[in-house]
Amino acid sequence: MAEIKLGVIGAGGRMGCSVIRQISKTDGCRLLGACDLPGSKVLGRDAGEFAGVGELDVEIQDRPEVFINHIDAVIEFSSPEATVKNSGLSAEAGCAHVIGTTGLTRDQELSMGQAAHSIPIIYAPNMSLAVNILFALTRQVSSILGDEFDIEVLEMHHRNKVDAPSGTALGLGRAAAEGRNVSLDENAVFTRSGLTGPRRQGDIGFATLRGGSVTGDHAVIFAADGERLELFHRAENRQIFARGAVRAAIWSDGKGPGLYSMADVLGLNPS
Ligand code: NAD
Repeated sequence: MAEIKLGVIGAGGRMGCSVIRQISKTDGCRLLGACDLPGSKVLGRDAGEFAGVGELDVEIQDRPEVFINHIDAVIEFSSPEATVKNSGLSAEAGCAHVIGTTGLTRDQELSMGQAAHSIPIIYAPNMSLAVNILFALTRQVSSILGDEFDIEVLEMHHRNKVDAPSGTALGLGRAAAEGRNVSLDENAVFTRSGLTGPRRQGDIGFATLRGGSVTGDHAVIFAADGERLELFHRAENRQIFARGAVRAAIWSDGKGPGLYSMADVLGLNPS
C-alpha cells in the first residue's frame, strides 16, 4: 500500500501536536505539511521538533495552500471559522478532510457539508475510537431494553471545564433516545434538586461531576428492578483523539465524496 501523505492544520495547538506525534508513530502515513494561524509563534519551526518527536523536515507554515495540493488528507483541529474556510480549500485541491474542530454552528456545518459534495469529509466531535463504540453500544442496548430500564448518563471532567453536560454526554443521551425512538429534548432531565417526586418512566437523566485533572469519564447506566447494566469509558489523555483522527485519515484513502462519521470509519454503519 502506498504511503498516505498528510497535512495538519492547527499544528501549534494541543490537538495539532498530538496528531503530529500520532502520525510520526503510525506506519503507512507521513506528515508532509503543517500550518497554524498567521502570527503564531510556532511558524517556521519544524513540526516534529515542536511536537517533541524529533525533526520531520516539515516547517510550520501560515497557509495550508502551500501543501494542500500535495497531500492525500488533511487533519484539522482549529477554530470553526478556519475549518469552514479550509474545507473549501480541500474541496478545490481534491484532498480528504478530517475535522475534529468542535463548536461549529448549524450554518457553518452546512457550509462545511458543501465541500463534502466533492471530497470525503470525516467530521466527529469526539474522535476517540472507544467513545464511538460506546455511542453505538448505547444505541443498541437502549433499543433492546425497554423503558423499565431507567437510563442515566454520568460524566466527570477536570475542574476547569466550563460547560455542562459535556458534548459527549449529550451525544450519549441522543444515542439512548435514538435507540428508543424518542426525542432527547422531550425526555432529558438535566437537573434534580429539592422535592423532585419520583422518577418519570422514560426520562433520560444526566449527572455532572467536576474536579481535579480528570480528562473525561462517561458512564451510561441502564437500571431496572434487581439489575443494572453500566457502560463506562475513561479517557486518560488527548492522544486517544489523535489516534482516531489518524485512523480516519487513513480510512479516507480511496473513499468517494461524502460526509462521514467515526461510525463509518469503524464500520458501525450498515453500508
Ligand atoms: P488549541 O487552542 O490548543 O489549538 C488550536 C490551534 O488552532 C491553535 O494553535 C490556533 O493557533 C490554531 N488555529 C486557529 N485558527 C487557525 C487558522 N485560521 N489556521 C490555522 N490554525 C489555526 O485547541 P485544541 O485543544 O487543540 O482544540 C482545537 C479544537 O479541537 C477545538 O475545537 C476543540 O474543542 C476540538 N477538539 C476536538 C476533539 C475531538 O475528538 N473531535 C478532541 C479535542 C479537542
